Amino acid sequence: MPQPVFRFAPSPNGALHLGHALSALLDHALARACGGRFLLRLEDVDPTRCRPEFERAILDDLAWLGLDWDGEVRRQSEHLAEHRAALARLEAEGLVYPSRVTRGALKALVAAAEAAGTPWPHDPDGAPWPPPRGAPFATVDGEPPALRLDTAAALARSGPLDWIETGGETPGVARRVTADPAAWGDPILARKEMPSSYHLAVVVDDAAQGVTHVVRGADLYRATDVHRLLQDRLGLPAPIYHHHELIRDGQGRKLSKSASDTALAALRADGATPDDVRALIDWPAREADIPRLSRVLRDAR
Ligand code: GLU
Repeated sequence: MPQPVFRFAPSPNGALHLGHALSALLDHALARACGGRFLLRLEDVDPTRCRPEFERAILDDLAWLGLDWDGEVRRQSEHLAEHRAALARLEAEGLVYPSRVTRGALKALVAAAEAAGTPWPHDPDGAPWPPPRGAPFATVDGEPPALRLDTAAALARSGPLDWIETGGETPGVARRVTADPAAWGDPILARKEMPSSYHLAVVVDDAAQGVTHVVRGADLYRATDVHRLLQDRLGLPAPIYHHHELIRDGQGRKLSKSASDTALAALRADGATPDDVRALIDWPAREADIPRLSRVLRDAR
């Protein structure tokens, strides 16, 4: 059996918080327990939000937690040619189209439809779908279009898709989950400023790095719908996915990168130790389950 490859892939667009600490610790512990490699990738394809100081802070926070990674850190922004090549492959199949609807114009379309009593579809993250391919709508002259995946056309070629999940609602049980890319409308594959996007870059880079196991937060569970469709159309292998539960704040809300009280750097500045952080995310109990969980991940197929 080839050596398993895991990766932690934060975006340097804010401070790491307790949720990232759980992701990184779990990823690292599972990789090591499986006898696998643990890679660090910085997902920095959004130049409007990513900054070098956040990148430095991520490396500092991980070192402070005592985590080591194998090989060089991969910065997605240094691999745009690979993302562009994948985009070109999808374009050649007629699966990509330019979309000039602006955020403001889309908002107006949604409001008008809803005022007329027609519910507008939204993706699993709550964002409105764009108008269908070829539909007329307000455009802004001179603005480069966003490039979107024609999901229906891609699905017509791929047929039904699924993935192997070992986390989600029944952690530690490997099973096949049906992918539902249609729920996402036509996601953006490349943006005005970048020939890349989260969805495109994550599947291209996971394959380029030989990633066999993706351990990440449950907030990305449904994004796997889109990832499976892109993998299928690009001829890329599907890793095994383990989506772990999210750490919530005192009010039960998902932690955000802008809320500073759960940021690792803020906790550290307040005198917290790495063990205090581990205690805050119930790590000792989770760590006790790593031998069993790692066997489930290793044997899943
Ligand atoms: N870069 C993403 C984030 O920081 C994670 C992507 C992934 O693990 O697939 O939320």
